[in-house]
Amino acid sequence: MLVHAIMPASRVNGPGLRCVVFVQGCNLDCPSCWNKLSHAFHGTEFAVEAIQAGLVNSYRQYSLEGVTFSGGEPMQQAEDLAKLVRGLRSALPTLGFGMFTGYSEKELETGRYFTRHGVDQDRRRTLWRSIRDQLDFAVMGRYNRLQPSRAPMRTSANQALRLFSSRYTESDFGEQTVEITIAADGLTRTTGFPTLGNPG
Ligand code: SF4
Repeated sequence: MLVHAIMPASRVNGPGLRCVVFVQGCNLDCPSCWNKLSHAFHGTEFAVEAIQAGLVNSYRQYSLEGVTFSGGEPMQQAEDLAKLVRGLRSALPTLGFGMFTGYSEKELETGRYFTRHGVDQDRRRTLWRSIRDQLDFAVMGRYNRLQPSRAPMRTSANQALRLFSSRYTESDFGEQTVEITIAADGLTRTTGFPTLGNPG
């Protein structure tokens, strides 16, 4: 699986303290996307098992509420994502799952989405259902800079926040906030919602 970055603990990508997996690769090309470095399908290929082991460690270290998949476009690596979600659910049954996807629910339901490994449409439908069945929430739809939004988790008004389980309600999703992390080695990472404008 191609991974852009993993943030072991974040409070702005869904309810509670969550690990955020930013996958590498997205060909949707939303104008003014603020994570363009995550678009190319290149970089180090990680085994799903290795990613899972790292997430289990983060869970134990930070007492995580859940994991959020972001990107890049998580559904464009749906085979690996489905395997990762299944493995995590089995290892950590209480973990919550969320996802940011540029696809609409209708596109995913009908299998009209691109996958890096070129699986057929029937398989894409099946993959989406198996992922959806483990998700507690997803933010769905392309980023549209012409429809800015300050609704929790949605940067443009066309996007939908879907709840797929009873774990969360809308009130569990806080206002848009930017989170800046400075590591011991000085590496700075920014995540969340730049409501005052796109820093890119
Ligand atoms: S789907 Fe997300 S990562 Fe892909 S171009 Fe759109 S905003 Fe950027």
